[in-house]
Amino acid sequence: MVSPENLVRNHLKTVKAYSSARDEFEGEAEVFLDANENSLGSATEGFYNRYPDPHHKALKNKWSEIKGVATNSIFFGNGSDEPIDLLIRLFCEPGEDHIITLPPTYGMYAVSSAINAVENVKVPLTKEFQIDLNGVKAVINRHSKLLFLCSPNNPSGNLLDKQVMLELVKIFPGIVVVDEAYIDFSPEASWINELVNYRNVVVLQTLSKAWGMAGIRVGVAMADPYVVSMLERIKPPYNLSQANQQLALEALNAEAKKNEKVDTLLSERDRLINELKDLGQVQEIIESAANFLLVRFDQVQELFDYLINEKVIVRNRTKELYCENCLRLTVGTPDENTRLIHLIKEFY
Ligand SMILES: *Cc1c(COP(=O)(O)O)cnc(C)c1O
Repeated sequence: MVSPENLVRNHLKTVKAYSSARDEFEGEAEVFLDANENSLGSATEGFYNRYPDPHHKALKNKWSEIKGVATNSIFFGNGSDEPIDLLIRLFCEPGEDHIITLPPTYGMYAVSSAINAVENVKVPLTKEFQIDLNGVKAVINRHSKLLFLCSPNNPSGNLLDKQVMLELVKIFPGIVVVDEAYIDFSPEASWINELVNYRNVVVLQTLSKAWGMAGIRVGVAMADPYVVSMLERIKPPYNLSQANQQLALEALNAEAKKNEKVDTLLSERDRLINELKDLGQVQEIIESAANFLLVRFDQVQELFDYLINEKVIVRNRTKELYCENCLRLTVGTPDENTRLIHLIKEFY
């Protein structure tokens, strides 16, 4: 069994977290003259003159209620991009350790590792966008600190094989980060159910996709309480603003609305598939467990340019590994999807 305590970079074990004025005072108070805030209030309407809760207590309580995960296993970040960066900083010694990623996959793992001067060892997925288990095994050594498994994967949209993931969790000597940004669109159970069994698993989720809150930048890491405590220690103390914590809480209190939108997007995804699959110029639609489709088209560059000309933007992924001639189509509103299908048919 991997002990995260043995994986954290040495100098971070003794680093002290920033101690805020509010942290140092425990008790009830009526007058707050301890943090050099503006006692008269904000320049604008609204009550933003006080520093926000650095521990995100209300959010964690709500998330814990929704997910059935203990609050001490929950970390909130400025998007899931923040925990991705913090995990690299927590576990990887620049110039010595490495992360392992499985392209084609989410771009931030590579960006964050590069910024931190940490090597990114790439083990491509198979052509079917599944894990090359032997390939991963072959590059694992004592400097392998993080393995990023994105499932459902971006840009392919498919789920990674759960049994293969489990085998990697069992043999990997470092931390396995399971990025579940699209889990709400997926029929597969979340890995959060396995957190109690495997101390080396970190699950990333986000409010950016199913919850529809990409604009406020709120992401979640769920992990062993020790890992969470270390992330809390090294994060910027006020990484979530007061406004964002409030807005995130409002979203979480409207879970039924989220589920409704997810249902609509899933039936719209099915409609897109049905419309596209019979077109002769569509070579392949990758099976999706997310709110987007990776589709292989004839004359992809011309189609892409045509859509732009018609003011519809999709993502051209043709330069990504195994994504030759592929566009990534985010599922839109019913009207937007109708327009997209119409334009594609018109183009051909
Ligand atoms: C969109 C996405 C995220 C979300 O990042 P945020 O910083 O939370 O907006 C994370 N991982 C993957 C794979 C994504 O596609």
